[in-house]
Amino acid sequence: MKIRQELLKNIRQVEPYVPGEQPQGRVVKLNTNENPYPPSPEVRKALDALDTDAFRLYPDPASSVLIRALAEQYQVGEDQVFAGVGSDDVLSLCFLTFFNSDKPVLFPDITYSFYKVWAQLYRIPYECPALDEDFRIVKEDYYRENGGVIFPNPNAPTAIYEELDFVEDILAHNRDSIVIVDEAYIDFAGRSAVELVDRYDNLIVTQTFSKSRSMAGMRIGYAIASPALIRCLNDVKYSFNSYTMSRAALECGAAAVRDRAYFEENVRKIRETRMRTQNELQELGFEMTGSDANFLFARHPEYDAGWLFRELKKWGIYVRHWNDERIRQYLRITIGTDEEMDIFFQALRDILNNK
Ligand SMILES: *Cc1c(COP(=O)(O)O)cnc(C)c1O
Repeated sequence: MKIRQELLKNIRQVEPYVPGEQPQGRVVKLNTNENPYPPSPEVRKALDALDTDAFRLYPDPASSVLIRALAEQYQVGEDQVFAGVGSDDVLSLCFLTFFNSDKPVLFPDITYSFYKVWAQLYRIPYECPALDEDFRIVKEDYYRENGGVIFPNPNAPTAIYEELDFVEDILAHNRDSIVIVDEAYIDFAGRSAVELVDRYDNLIVTQTFSKSRSMAGMRIGYAIASPALIRCLNDVKYSFNSYTMSRAALECGAAAVRDRAYFEENVRKIRETRMRTQNELQELGFEMTGSDANFLFARHPEYDAGWLFRELKKWGIYVRHWNDERIRQYLRITIGTDEEMDIFFQALRDILNNK
């Protein structure tokens, strides 16, 4: 049954973000940039130590255990950290809190597709300066008047990391706008903009536990910024939903952050497999845009990406493909374990040889 016109006029309708498929069963899942390794064993211990009787009580609305662990890890004040239900939650709250101008918010044409959805949902005007031919952000495009700036570093799905002086240049040209740097993949890349937070009162850095910390299923993300901006974010959060982080997420998250050695080893393994994957794909004739995240963005000059995507699926191998004009010939391939990548290479060789 259709909604009557009289009702429809007051309903907020949006074109939603489309998440990657979550297939069940035995597949090789290289489509949503999850970590192929389990989280730190300390997470299991934290889970076992949970007092389930306490589940009847609301969790700490300030997320103190987790924030304390993060503040210590990043050497910032506890009043400089905000936590939420994945960085999607944190970013969405940032849009609501900081992007309230009549001027357009700026983000690249090829980037995390959720930005456009939040802008539409919250009715924030936006413009999308085009990446250059090599899929790099053109920093001069962000020198003009705007209602805020957001970009991921490394960018997704291009896997290109820009050095800190590039980020700082955009910050310096936007002293009167909030600039959000979405560092979902920073641990696989280079220096984080967190070190600029004390010098730029317009900077917000967001990160997540979903990729480098193997905890996409626990839903933990955070922002680091000046105490004043974090206070604004908290005010909006408390006006929206005070108890966002479950007791389990808070304890498991804090345990994961404290196990630094495990985290570093995990990241090292993925970077090593990434290097191998890059070499194998190059040998098969693929071209890649960058290699600074836990995924690669690759095209083959002779084979249609949509066709490759479908052929891989027949093998039970899931990668990501978009029908957007500029990136239609690319596949985004998450770095899995070495065993998963071997299955992927074997399938690719078979597909390409039997064409
Ligand atoms: C994965 C991702 C996020 C969100 O991750 P959460 O699971 O919500 O923490 C945010 N930004 C980019 C660019 C991502 O790729």
